[in-house]
Amino acid sequence: MKLYNSLSHKEEEFVPNEPGKVSMYTCGPTVYHFAHIGNLRSYIMEDVLEKYLRYVGYDVKRVMNITDVGHLTSDGDTGDDKMLKGAKREHKTVMEIAEFYTNAFFEDCRKLNIKTPDVVEPATHCIDEFIRVISSLIGKGYAYEAGGNIYFDTSKLSKYYVFGELSEEDLEVGVREGVEADGNKKNKADFVLWFTKSKFDDQELKWESPWGLGYPGWHIECSCISMKHLGEKLDLHCGGIDNQFPHHTNEIAQSEAFLGHKWCNYWFHVHHLNTLSGKMSKSKGEFLTVSLLEEKGFAPVVYRFFCLQSHYRKSLVFSWENLENAKQAYDKLVARIAALIPEAKGEADKEAFERIRADFTAAMDDDINTSNAVTAVYNVFKADTDAATKLALLDDYDRVLSLDLTESAKKLIAQQQNTDIPAEVAELVAQRKEARAAKDFALADELRDRIAELGYVIRETRQGTEITKK
Ligand SMILES: [Zn+2]
Repeated sequence: MKLYNSLSHKEEEFVPNEPGKVSMYTCGPTVYHFAHIGNLRSYIMEDVLEKYLRYVGYDVKRVMNITDVGHLTSDGDTGDDKMLKGAKREHKTVMEIAEFYTNAFFEDCRKLNIKTPDVVEPATHCIDEFIRVISSLIGKGYAYEAGGNIYFDTSKLSKYYVFGELSEEDLEVGVREGVEADGNKKNKADFVLWFTKSKFDDQELKWESPWGLGYPGWHIECSCISMKHLGEKLDLHCGGIDNQFPHHTNEIAQSEAFLGHKWCNYWFHVHHLNTLSGKMSKSKGEFLTVSLLEEKGFAPVVYRFFCLQSHYRKSLVFSWENLENAKQAYDKLVARIAALIPEAKGEADKEAFERIRADFTAAMDDDINTSNAVTAVYNVFKADTDAATKLALLDDYDRVLSLDLTESAKKLIAQQQNTDIPAEVAELVAQRKEARAAKDFALADELRDRIAELGYVIRETRQGTEITKK
């Protein structure tokens, strides 16, 4: 399997440290607000990557952090504290905000068929780990104290800009964001590992540390949480492309300084979701959430389908019109599968299954090319095989794509059958349902016979009552 590695800027053959096993780390959300659908694009594409690794047989362990402390409005350690901002906005405590938006995040993930990682760890649960690693970095000469904070000294590394596209001149953080540069820093790129009370007086969450009462910086949490659960060598680290700098650059700096060897081999970055007017953000234009999509009549799985139609390394433009096009394409696809279901008889043809499936695995092996994988879904209909094999293939691909393909098709069939039923029959079905609920089985049987006289067969299945024409 080929995977583009942001570290080498090349597609590389994916080879984990331990054969058959993959350790995978994902930067989780900062839980101060709802996730916008641009953030969720990253989680959808990472979910597809994880599911494909499992599909080809890897034993995957995936870890995600929840940022409930330490993330400032600028990733370069300037601006307000995001959690504090959320708490003030809603007149709640920071922990209440964290709990509410953590739940909201996983609810969105559930709706988008994103699997919950094996380990989910809030930063506030790992304070001791942070202190231990920061102490070690100070001991090794990679960190210093200034103005009450502990900073990582980026000049101590032979190479800090590991992703290669930035230099010191690009790093006019203070100038760019209209925020005064931090005078405590020895080098512009240095970043905070631990804040003490010198930063925000109204910070709710503070812990004792060797450097005074304070709280951790944002970047240190991912290194520590990853090392805690996945050990000293990580196979794969994922995140949105906007996390590449400074967040991932800083994660690598401190992890490798602490460990004394290479930390993570493959970096997987999902590109931006843009609106017609530019990069999507919470503060600009419409705040696009999963709930808003639902309010406008779009099933979350349609958004997932929309994302899978393009490659994760290409920027994707969101508009309501584009989403409407995806919805129509999805509905058509589901209708085609619904038409296939009654024709599917018997077992799948194993030889044909393997032959046709190669189309899908070739797409996915080519740097998770979901756009071609969706084409492989369409190719199934044209394939030279029977309906049972076609359905088996679609189910197989959907283990990775998670588009509810056959489930949606079965729902569509049930809907079509229900709408074809005359009102008289529907009324008897409703009466029978009541009779069964009241445990009046004699009446229920009588009603079933009357329904049969009108030409309809009624059957109880696990999905509910199924009514078909005789
Ligand atoms: Zn991270």
